[in-house]
Amino acid sequence: MSELEIKSLSKAFGGVHAVRDVSFAVGKGEFLAMIGPNGAGKSTCFNMINGQLRPDSGEILFEGRNLAGLHSRDVWRLGVGRTFQVAAVFGSMTVVENVQMALISHSHGIYKFWPAAASQHRERALELLAQVGMREAADRPSRELAYGDIKRIELAIALANDPRLLLMDEPTAGMAPRERNNLIALVKKLVVERGISVLFTEHSMDVVFAFADRIVVLARGHLIADGNAAEIRDNPQVREVYFGTGKTFAGQAS
Ligand code: ADP
Ligand code: MG
Repeated sequence: MSELEIKSLSKAFGGVHAVRDVSFAVGKGEFLAMIGPNGAGKSTCFNMINGQLRPDSGEILFEGRNLAGLHSRDVWRLGVGRTFQVAAVFGSMTVVENVQMALISHSHGIYKFWPAAASQHRERALELLAQVGMREAADRPSRELAYGDIKRIELAIALANDPRLLLMDEPTAGMAPRERNNLIALVKKLVVERGISVLFTEHSMDVVFAFADRIVVLARGHLIADGNAAEIRDNPQVREVYFGTGKTFAGQAS
């Protein structure tokens, strides 16, 4: 059984058909990239899966259960984690406190009692920070961190909730090519270890082709291709969408 199965998903905003009859699946433990030009409907797809947007029609089957129209909080509780395109870390807290807060909210603690709960989950939070290479920064104020480091903390926070499916819409937005590569390599290593399924978007084709197990391509709301790196690279419709015909993906990191 697939971890996630999207069936005939559609969403329009007024006259704009952002997502049209899109179907694809994410296998258990699969690292699946969704690519497509700006405005293709990728974020709209993500936001329907994570419960921020209600689909007009279609099904979002997570472990066989339809998530369509559920509140994002309930989607998250069922085991679907996500990282945010805009970093969502609290600058006034230390690095480790940010992760502790995620752990507390996962165990249904009430974080209005913060900071009384400050010592809760510290060991587990430190462990998660070590896994993303941020153990040394644990007691620094989060606001002092570089952008790439905040993305690592976000990843630790997403993992704190023990998701079985992780959604990452442009996790490397705003990062330099080398940093992008490092972050995605880290994500892949951690999710493979834990058997987590991942759906992510990423602009750099080099990164997508290097790390994705499989790739789905959206264009103007339609799913136009679904395959491995070689199949996508050679797909005439995909080349057409990206470059007009004839060209290849070589050197197209953006
Ligand atoms: P992508 O993430 O692939 O760049 P989006 O899903 O953000 O694409 O957008 C798909 C289309 O839907 C675009 O034409 C965009 O302008 C439109 N769109 C997205 N969100 C909204 C919204 N909240 N209201 C109106 N139009 C939207
Ligand atoms: Mg987007």
